[in-house]
Amino acid sequence: MFIDTHCHVEEDKISKEEYIRHAQEAGVSCCVVSFCDPKELSKVEELVSVSDSYYVTVGIHPEYAMDVQESDFSLLEKMLEKKKVVAIGEIGLDYYWDKNHKEEQKDVFRRQMVLAEKWKLPVVIHTREAMNDTYEILKEFPQVHGIMHCFSGSYEMACHFLSLGYLLGIGGVLTFKNSKLGEVVQQLPLSSFVLETDSPYLAPEPVRGTMNESKNIPYIAEKLANWKGVSIEEVAKVTSKNAIEMFDLPIDL
Ligand SMILES: [Zn+2]
Repeated sequence: MFIDTHCHVEEDKISKEEYIRHAQEAGVSCCVVSFCDPKELSKVEELVSVSDSYYVTVGIHPEYAMDVQESDFSLLEKMLEKKKVVAIGEIGLDYYWDKNHKEEQKDVFRRQMVLAEKWKLPVVIHTREAMNDTYEILKEFPQVHGIMHCFSGSYEMACHFLSLGYLLGIGGVLTFKNSKLGEVVQQLPLSSFVLETDSPYLAPEPVRGTMNESKNIPYIAEKLANWKGVSIEEVAKVTSKNAIEMFDLPIDL
């Protein structure tokens, strides 16, 4: 059994029912869907009611930091009470998207870290061209743990995040030809990782370039198994256990 710890379901391209059916056929029995656009937070309940296999994370992505309203924070906090909301995310810093509003991004990020502390929830971290600033902010909240979503940094950065109690979300990037991530994961124990697709983006090889779905998780697992020199079953078992513990999912392995 696999768990996709990070995906987005684009309902104009595929129905929620079909998406989960494809995933289950591929052995992916749980999909954690990321809701990080304040305008979409209200769709959470509708999605989780479709299937027991859907869980969600809710948060305000750094790309919305400039336009965020106080009402967005109140709605977010209201959503945290809901069943099947397992983390705050994805939240963080994205200087690739916008270099000119770093302070606004940091402010929105910190406010959500405070919420994670208050609600005792893990966080899912998005960081792009902002690894050091992200690390500095995470250090301010030693009580909070979570997942470094779509991790693609160095071995040293991986160790920094692991020592703060974060897991590394490993996705399609691991399967790409020029990726350096393989050499990084090879040096770390399986207990450091969870699997994710970040669908509909970043489809792994050999389906790169198509619309990604949770059903593609086995391609990523297979690559991780190769790098680690273990069976795909071992990858499934350990990464699912990691996800279940991090998100406190009511799932038996
Ligand atoms: Zn995402």
